[in-house]
Amino acid sequence: MAKKVAIVGAGVGGLATAARLAYDGYDVEVFERLPECGGRNHLLEDAGFKFDMGPSFVLMPDFFEEVFSYCAEHLKDYLELRVIDPSYKIFYADGETLTVHRDSRRTKEELERIEKGSAKQFDKFIAETARIYGIIKPLLYKCVTYKALANPYYWSLIGSIRAFQSYWQLARKYFKSDKLCYAFTFEAMFMGVSPYQAPAFYSVISYTDHVQKIAHPMGGMYKIPLALEKLSRKFGAKINYDCPIEDIAQANGQISLKHGRGQIKADYAVINADYAYAQTDLLKRKIPGFKYSCSTYLIYLGIKNKLKNLAHHNLFFSRDLNKNLEQIFNEKIIPEDPSFYVHVPTVTDTSLAPAGKEILYLLIPVPNLMNAKDALLRHQERIRRLVFDKINSLCGCNLDQLIEVEDCFYPEDFIGRYNIKYAATFGLAHNLTQSAFFRPANFDSKIKNLYYAGASTQPGGGLPVVIAGSRIVADLIKRKSSS
Ligand SMILES: Cc1cc2nc3c(=O)[nH]c(=O)nc-3n(C[C@H](O)[C@H](O)[C@H](O)COP(=O)(O)OP(=O)(O)OC[C@H]3O[C@@H](n4cnc5c(N)ncnc54)[C@H](O)[C@@H]3O)c2cc1C
Repeated sequence: MAKKVAIVGAGVGGLATAARLAYDGYDVEVFERLPECGGRNHLLEDAGFKFDMGPSFVLMPDFFEEVFSYCAEHLKDYLELRVIDPSYKIFYADGETLTVHRDSRRTKEELERIEKGSAKQFDKFIAETARIYGIIKPLLYKCVTYKALANPYYWSLIGSIRAFQSYWQLARKYFKSDKLCYAFTFEAMFMGVSPYQAPAFYSVISYTDHVQKIAHPMGGMYKIPLALEKLSRKFGAKINYDCPIEDIAQANGQISLKHGRGQIKADYAVINADYAYAQTDLLKRKIPGFKYSCSTYLIYLGIKNKLKNLAHHNLFFSRDLNKNLEQIFNEKIIPEDPSFYVHVPTVTDTSLAPAGKEILYLLIPVPNLMNAKDALLRHQERIRRLVFDKINSLCGCNLDQLIEVEDCFYPEDFIGRYNIKYAATFGLAHNLTQSAFFRPANFDSKIKNLYYAGASTQPGGGLPVVIAGSRIVADLIKRKSSS
């Protein structure tokens, strides 16, 4: 009889694990507390506008391909990934812009406009990040523990991936102006960490967005979990929605999971729910003093007209990025002049809004709720006004007159909706002491046959990386089954 695997959570990590193990012949059952799949990769529909509420960048498309080919399927039969051009546009506070194109020759022309000689430096920066990516990529499919430190191979890696340098320091080595250093490190914010704290090896994200390019799934980001849900079901995985797991314990060589409708026993269990939440609330354990990523305040606007001057992805930088980061990560107050991100998926994909209309999704990084010294609610109007004014002045529009629908998502909603500890949007922070073997492993050290797949465990957060984590878990379970 097939061994039973219970998966807690139908986020991208849970579904990718379910698909792989169902394909491998396990009897897979997923338990999700929400009425639908996707977790943070969720969809909000309002008056004909389809807002993707969480992720918006598809980087490293080969990681998406891999989960389908693992199951002997083709990604293209499930998802249409379209490379976008331009990749993104940066708006500096003084009105200057930098457009990053699919064609790096055009990007270099833009760079030269801001800093003479930077086109050459760009090539060197990309060559260095490509070298680091070559080392890191295979490691993303491995769970490494402290035992790895006994292996001299890993010691040699630490230096070669520049573990002790920050992402910012690496960029500074190549670019003189703060403007370009910001442009080549902002990606750290998408992992919820300051580029001053993220280790230099996270610069592989810059490599992937400049070299492998950025894709958009036609029909919206929500098509990604839907595709994984379909893949899992094709191989027989059963998915229970509105079915929260309340307790997990070892029981006579099996794992017992108490859920809203009763109790089940499984040979293996995989927790996809947020790691820190699972430790405290499902396993009733104390957790060490983890560092958490920032939180985010999200505003979703349905706009009456098409807008000019905005690309599919847009970044608006604070006048003083250093102060902005300091306020989010150290002072833990709501920033005075926040940097923010604007997603306009309707530039590429008109199916997401009624004809002739536009979607604007605004993401504003704010402190997480662990010891936060300030509450967003007190600053909400100010922040909304500030970001609207900045968009209006830099893009020549009047948002207030164009809004047809407006929705938002607060830091507290990350706890209420997804059970994310301290509303840390991206889970545990990606600093040096919580990366690689320092990040929670994909298996539990106390409960036999209990595993973890998700953003706060190895190899880390972000859709492609979470999908790689699901491969680690599938491999660990298969190895265990055959031992
Ligand atoms: C605003 C935002 C922007 C982002 N931007 C990007 C981006 O552009 N590109 C990118 O690659 N990544 C991005 N990310 C990160 C990416 O979305 C996450 O890393 C990824 O979706 C995490 O997936 P997961 O499966 O680990 O967790 P989750 O998506 O959190 O899924 C966990 C699931 O577990 C469920 N659950 C929790 N508790 C229980 C319980 N007790 N019982 C049953 N089920 C439970 C939850 O409801 C949830 O569905 C972004 C994230 C956010 C929020």
